[in-house]
Amino acid sequence: TAPLDVAQVRKDFPILERRVHEKPLVYLDNAATSQTPRQVIATFDDYFARYNANIHRGLHTLADEATAAFEQTRHKVRAFLNAEEARQIVFTRGTTEAINLVVQSWGRANLGPGDEVLVSLLEHHSNIVPWQLLAAERGFTLKVIPVDARGALDLAAYRALLSEQTKLVAVNHISNALGTINPVSEMAQLAHAVGARILIDGAQAAPHQRIDVQAIDADFYAFSGHKVYGPTGVGALYGKRELLEAMPPWQGGGEMIKTVSFDAGTQFADIPHKFEAGTPAIAEVIALGRALEWVEGVGIEAIGAWEHVLLERATQAVSGIDGLRILGTTPEKAGVLSFVVEGAHAQDIGLLIDQLGVAIRTGHHCAQPLLHHFGVEATCRASFAAYNTLDEVDVFVAALKRVIDMVR
Ligand code: PMP
Repeated sequence: TAPLDVAQVRKDFPILERRVHEKPLVYLDNAATSQTPRQVIATFDDYFARYNANIHRGLHTLADEATAAFEQTRHKVRAFLNAEEARQIVFTRGTTEAINLVVQSWGRANLGPGDEVLVSLLEHHSNIVPWQLLAAERGFTLKVIPVDARGALDLAAYRALLSEQTKLVAVNHISNALGTINPVSEMAQLAHAVGARILIDGAQAAPHQRIDVQAIDADFYAFSGHKVYGPTGVGALYGKRELLEAMPPWQGGGEMIKTVSFDAGTQFADIPHKFEAGTPAIAEVIALGRALEWVEGVGIEAIGAWEHVLLERATQAVSGIDGLRILGTTPEKAGVLSFVVEGAHAQDIGLLIDQLGVAIRTGHHCAQPLLHHFGVEATCRASFAAYNTLDEVDVFVAALKRVIDMVR
């Protein structure tokens, strides 16, 4: 694939022209939310100016156009994930809601006393808490796959945890807190060997590498629009067809039924509509489709390769800083640089570096168990996207050095 032309890419992002505290914005909080290309922003204007209507119900032109555009995104997500069929894609509010859907529908139908669900220590709270809530109610056991000192999953421990009791493994593809890339294909194979299902949280993987749910043999795969150059309020869940078909609905309402009757009971719609009660985020779904098109236009491989260059440069440069410790040092990493600095609180670094125009994340990154494992409450996290430049990395590192000198 052609290498990424970062100057060209940047032209698509109006927000990058912003100044923050009179400094050019250097946006390095992409693991939280990526910025939005003008083509995606334009989708909203176009939708609300030309064909805003509720979908799947009208027999009028605007409703038809909105429905067609909405359903087209389903096909684009199918292609993006290499799913078998478009009806295996369920639209949700994001990764969190996609995981909650699996927990509340599949989990409720399949988990009880004596069963085990494995989650990893690398998980975002959104892949921990929904399982804890259901475990408390249904009496199954939640077990944790440990990580080593580099922030890699302990695969020997994973093998040892797997048993006939294991019903599902819930693991992220890439850790948002460390950038660790997990061997999800191998993990899926091992889970399947004991008859367990695997749910993969792809929130951090979707923006950085090509996803192939069939090659992974994922049972469920979730991602969010707002981390892959799309809008907030939308995401998707992929599921194997036979699983989705067997799963009960989790929310009731319009759109998810065939017929409703007080006497004869209610017949549910086929997948995916069975899981899409109520009016969805129509404009956002359409915009997500445009975002995925934008990603394909640049090339996901080119984006991943460029982010790797940025990560290498940043890792090298900060490694020389006295008292700075990087968390997450596996050879297989995506564009996340998480670190703590001796004698300097992450929060102080975050606030002061913002004064210099640099946006990074500080805190627990919704991964408190993982941070506790490393003996810290918070880290600083710089995370990269297609539009970041080597100059920005240098500005970030220089700013970081200044800030550390100020607080020490
Ligand atoms: N999982 C991971 C690995 C994430 O990085 C995030 C977002 N930080 C989520 C889940 C939750 O995504 P959302 O808030 O979009 O539902």
